[in-house]
Amino acid sequence: MQKKIVAGNWKMNTTFQEGEALVKAIIAGKNETPDDVLLIVAPPFTHLCCLTEPLREAGIGVAAQNCASEEKGAYTGEVSAKMLASIGVEYCIIGHSERREYYGETGEILLKKVQQSLSAGLRPIFCVGEVLAEREANRHFEVVGQQLDEVILKLTPADFAKTIIAYEPVWAIGTGKTASSEQAQEIHAHIRKVLVGKFGGAANDTAILYGGSCKPSNAKELFAQPDVAGGLIGGASLVADDFIAIAKAG
Ligand code: PEP
Repeated sequence: MQKKIVAGNWKMNTTFQEGEALVKAIIAGKNETPDDVLLIVAPPFTHLCCLTEPLREAGIGVAAQNCASEEKGAYTGEVSAKMLASIGVEYCIIGHSERREYYGETGEILLKKVQQSLSAGLRPIFCVGEVLAEREANRHFEVVGQQLDEVILKLTPADFAKTIIAYEPVWAIGTGKTASSEQAQEIHAHIRKVLVGKFGGAANDTAILYGGSCKPSNAKELFAQPDVAGGLIGGASLVADDFIAIAKAG
């Protein structure tokens, strides 16, 4: 039985001091969460160096929210996957819809980021998801299939085995609208089918997280779906009690 994963994406929120206090509160609440739920926290880059050690000591995984698509060199302002790995970061969120939309990250760029992460020893948490117009046009399977095809289906089986997928319908991110548990299960099962088609039975073990306005009140039903291995949590991960309550639903 795979562990459920509850990962908090803080985005561009919290000063360092606020982040430190939030980590303390999450660590304090962790003993209330089931042993078979892996907590992961993704603070901003500026916080990672100081917060990685206490988080890992408490048995909480640490993720970055992004990494560079290149290994090193003259790329002012970028942070490489290798730099992140060198301070103990273990995971990297890649392909979040905000990066795709506001920073023009294409499948080609995302493939490079995933490959950089993997070669530095980070496990990518690769996000896919359709916008509202695509859902309304019944194109969500096609859109998600293409996002997987551009990146994940190009990986070697060994690299694929280290990858986590997050299905995040863009219309549900930060909007308060959540996919119903039926909608989530339907598309998670589709994602698994695509992955099994390429990688065979190994894809039955792939963690596929749900993200999009997940909160304590809806987490249990979503996480109970057979192909939903937990959640990628935005807004609610900034409130320790809510984040812990979501983890308890795992
Ligand atoms: C996210 O951005 O990854 C996310 C799931 O956000 P929220 O939970 O706030 O919808």
